Amino acid sequence: MDLKEYQTKYLASEFLFREGDVGDCASIIESGKVEVSVQNGDHKLTIATLGEGDLVGEMAIIDNLPRTASAMAAEDTLVIAIPLDYIHQKIDHSDPTVKFFLQIIMERYRDMHHRLMHVFEGIYPNDDAYAEMYATTSNIMKNLMAQYIDMQDRILEAVNSSIDPEEQKNVDDNVARNARQVMSVEHAMKAALKNDQFKLHFQPIIGLDSGCMEGCEALVRWEHPVKGLVPPLEFISLAESTGLIVDLGYWIVEQACAFQLQLNEQFARPMFVSINLSGKQFDDEGLISQLESILKQSGVRRELIKYEITESLLMANPEKAADYLHRLKESGVTLAIDDFGTGYSSFSYLHRFPFDTLKIDRMFVSTMIQNPKSQKIVRSLVHLSHDIGMNVVAEGIETTHEHQALLDLGAEYAQGYLYSRPIEAEAFLQLPEKAVQD
Ligand code: C2E
Ligand code: CA
Ligand code: CA
Repeated sequence: MDLKEYQTKYLASEFLFREGDVGDCASIIESGKVEVSVQNGDHKLTIATLGEGDLVGEMAIIDNLPRTASAMAAEDTLVIAIPLDYIHQKIDHSDPTVKFFLQIIMERYRDMHHRLMHVFEGIYPNDDAYAEMYATTSNIMKNLMAQYIDMQDRILEAVNSSIDPEEQKNVDDNVARNARQVMSVEHAMKAALKNDQFKLHFQPIIGLDSGCMEGCEALVRWEHPVKGLVPPLEFISLAESTGLIVDLGYWIVEQACAFQLQLNEQFARPMFVSINLSGKQFDDEGLISQLESILKQSGVRRELIKYEITESLLMANPEKAADYLHRLKESGVTLAIDDFGTGYSSFSYLHRFPFDTLKIDRMFVSTMIQNPKSQKIVRSLVHLSHDIGMNVVAEGIETTHEHQALLDLGAEYAQGYLYSRPIEAEAFLQLPEKAVQD
């Protein structure tokens, strides 16, 4: 991202914001010093002096109320303003527990601030009772101020509790740097979506019995103008944490549906397209209806679209996951549980979800030839899947040995470098339908 877009320079004595202004951003101080103060008539109380790496104006995060204090550059100062809607989007996409705690802490923080200001106003009344009141209120003031500072310290302590104090300075610097980096990549990803820099590659899924391609998995890549082809592991988690996965996810489904129609034109047999859905996409209330409308608009046959979902989604919120998965299933698509065996899920609850397919993770497949334990796990997974009416895709087949072993165990499908790496759409359409010669 061009950080200059968010960077602002303030000369000494210039105000970043004043009490009563609309709070539309928080700012990270890049260099310089900022004095935060409140004013009562002619009296000014300096609450804090902040420096490089500190955050200012963070109170605006929890509500859209006017600023409760003024912030003035104590010397020439450079800040990066983080817009409020950007922060709200982050909070909306964060873990619900983190969100809850953040809200509570911020509300208490603001409440403490209000009480502090209330007493502050009492200290400098406009009537003659000033002298008499001062003695009592100044103690309350001191007390509240101490509580306020204590609260700030405790919040900081809680956030940093696992960190060696000597490393604290580095951590603080890193936090600020990371925040800038995340903003920068996020900005680049948004632009990438607009500028068509994301591409889908497709990897064939082979029927072990027929030796023919029966479908494929859509795998996203980012064609970065400078870095070249960026693999999904480098940007999917950031797309999830920033919420961009929602828009990117819809784009992926649109492209994958369009590709399924191309497959119908090219190949005699019907071929399914598997699409990865990330857990974060399920936070989007409109997910089911939006997916439904994309499929409808594309004209794709529902049974040829398969959504792949990982275990973590089921574990995070089983009731909600079951509800969503049943609704998806009712729309006519098929469902696969991806990377099975890598998380904490157990077979005992899989029957609660309407999966058609179980994908055995590459980890088991790649070790099964050498390791009898892995082979036993794969065998049990195949049998148990069949017992509850699911078919099986073995992932990461790289050798003919592995191919033969999976065929012998009775798995239906296989996917891996042995047949093809994920490739571009045009190249995929040139592949022979028969992937394995007899
Ligand atoms: P995944 O869903 O388990 O995808 C399979 C990954 O295994 C792919 O990596 C694929 O290239 C790789 N693979 C396939 N066969 C072999 C093999 O024989 N040997 C080895 N060593 N690797 C093999 P890729 O494309 O880098 O994707 C990594 C992960 O990124 C995917 O794991 C998936 O979790 C995520 N991802 C990819 N595309 C999407 C997407 O469109 N949406 C979402 N939400 N996640 C995606
Ligand atoms: Ca997958
Ligand atoms: Ca997988």
